[in-house]
Amino acid sequence: MKHIRAIGCDLFNTLVLAKPDALTRAFPRLQRSLERDGLHPEEKAFRKTYYHTAVKLLKQTREDGRETHNRFWISAALENFGYHVPPDDPRITAAVEAYFSTFCDSCYRVPGARSMLERLKDVYQLGLLSNFTHWPAALEIIDRLELAPFFEVKLISGQLGYRKPHGKVFSELMGGFDAKRNEIMYVGDDVDADVNGALAAGIQPVWFTYVQDKKPPIPMYMAPSETEDPHEDVPRVSTWNEFLALLNTL
Ligand SMILES: [Mg+2]
Repeated sequence: MKHIRAIGCDLFNTLVLAKPDALTRAFPRLQRSLERDGLHPEEKAFRKTYYHTAVKLLKQTREDGRETHNRFWISAALENFGYHVPPDDPRITAAVEAYFSTFCDSCYRVPGARSMLERLKDVYQLGLLSNFTHWPAALEIIDRLELAPFFEVKLISGQLGYRKPHGKVFSELMGGFDAKRNEIMYVGDDVDADVNGALAAGIQPVWFTYVQDKKPPIPMYMAPSETEDPHEDVPRVSTWNEFLALLNTL
């Protein structure tokens, strides 16, 4: 990893964290939005069905790498309560927007993330590659947290149609850089999506273990996957200062 010219970054648990109640605060907004549109599933049971469907469909994405979206989860959950509302129905679009407008308020930067990007922006090409279903919300989060201007490439799985670790999304990242495969580094917290995805794509991974090591409170559904630790050859850093120190050793 001597000649790194471009660095790709994961978003959640790497550059940005969500407060532990981010999802529980956002869900009632989704529910109120549906109620305003005349849909009244019982709240507790509806929430349970929604998350159950989300987990099931997210698991399915592991089969072929295709991204899912919250509109499918809402549509499927409503079906259980006798409401036949297709995923692209405007009532579901409004509910998704209501959910994410609250969720975005609950996001904040991992310490040191912005100053790290500031220091690297003139030396490396920087890219963002995030697994996030509702891509406009991911872009809004980086915009609000003043991270957007640092990235020459911004790729969100919900827009690409595929999720990490699928090779297609890493190809898109590589295509966005003016650099050879062995000149690209990718930093992320999730062993499966980030480290193994980058390794399979032939680019240099760095495992960012701020969440694993510092244990900030995060929403249960946003914890990194419990995959076996990567090989010890994969550099591991807990903080952005450690990452900067790692780059200095190259
Ligand atoms: Mg992550």
